[in-house]
Amino acid sequence: MSLLTFTDKGIFCPQGDFYIDPWKPVERAVITHAHSDHARWGTHFYLCHHLTKPLLQLRLGDNQYQSVEWNEAVYMNGVRISLHPAGHIIGSSQIRVEYKDEVWVASGDYKTESDGISGNFEPVKCDTFITESTFGLPIYNWKPQQQIFYDIQNWIIKNKDEGKISVLIAYSLGKAQRLLPCISEVNPSIFAHGAVWNVHDAFVKAGVKLPEVKRVMPDMSKEIFKGSVVIAPQSAEGTGWMKRFVPYELAVCSGWMQVRGNARRSNADKGFALSDHADWNGLLDAVEATGAHKVFVTHGFQSAFSRFLNENGIESAEVKTEFGEEEEAIDNGELKNDNDALSIANSD
Ligand SMILES: [Zn+2]
Ligand SMILES: [Zn+2]
Repeated sequence: MSLLTFTDKGIFCPQGDFYIDPWKPVERAVITHAHSDHARWGTHFYLCHHLTKPLLQLRLGDNQYQSVEWNEAVYMNGVRISLHPAGHIIGSSQIRVEYKDEVWVASGDYKTESDGISGNFEPVKCDTFITESTFGLPIYNWKPQQQIFYDIQNWIIKNKDEGKISVLIAYSLGKAQRLLPCISEVNPSIFAHGAVWNVHDAFVKAGVKLPEVKRVMPDMSKEIFKGSVVIAPQSAEGTGWMKRFVPYELAVCSGWMQVRGNARRSNADKGFALSDHADWNGLLDAVEATGAHKVFVTHGFQSAFSRFLNENGIESAEVKTEFGEEEEAIDNGELKNDNDALSIANSD
């Protein structure tokens, strides 16, 4: 019997009787991070990192939660479980599972470059590694974060000089927090859509230090936003909610912006290829660092990435999951207006 198996409800540990990021309601789940495709409603007991818990409570309401620090062991029926930094968003974790000298690691989503707020991706040795592959094609090759931040900062400064508001489209959980230090270095006046603000507020209450953000309220006069930067989720784009910021410049922050034409298709003036996922080389480095002799590849370009691993001497198989292939999708349809501010858009 395999330590972890793939079932129609999700990744399952028969010996420990728990699931990892199940997509159907189950009794016990270990959650890698709070994006909606990985942390779903209906499970009785959730185990997660301390900084994932407030987000699960915000999104999933009252349930039984146990939260742990990275590297802290929890036992379920003799199976040793520990969480390790995944570097994807604040609180995101890889799940290490050990039983009788056998070790598996389920990555959830991850990125190998340090972003300064999510914790640095930790390579964890294992026999079998389950990896995501959202950007698992060689064309995905990120610029260093600092370089992208300079581009964003120059864009913000230029807009202000021209008397325009800068509107950044970014996922409310993850990208929005990551952008704050970058923005605040050049402009301390930052406003957020309610969806972004709710996540921000949950993190601040949990003790995460983030630059100050003001929530956009319906009764605010247009004057207040002059010279500011606004962070909004994808779904706010093209809605009446945006009118209060005219004149503004619009930029989308997403890994998909690396592909030419995507910014234009989304009506943005500009696209910044800033991703919370590993790029092609990041995925390869991560796989190699685990020392795993077997790799399962999930959501993304799983067949291409899995084939590449097999051709390069690492036994690999692709696995169909219900994790969002929508990750970082440009038209993520959630959050139609400010009233939907409690939901959290899918990942980026
Ligand atoms: Zn994912
Ligand atoms: Zn994610």
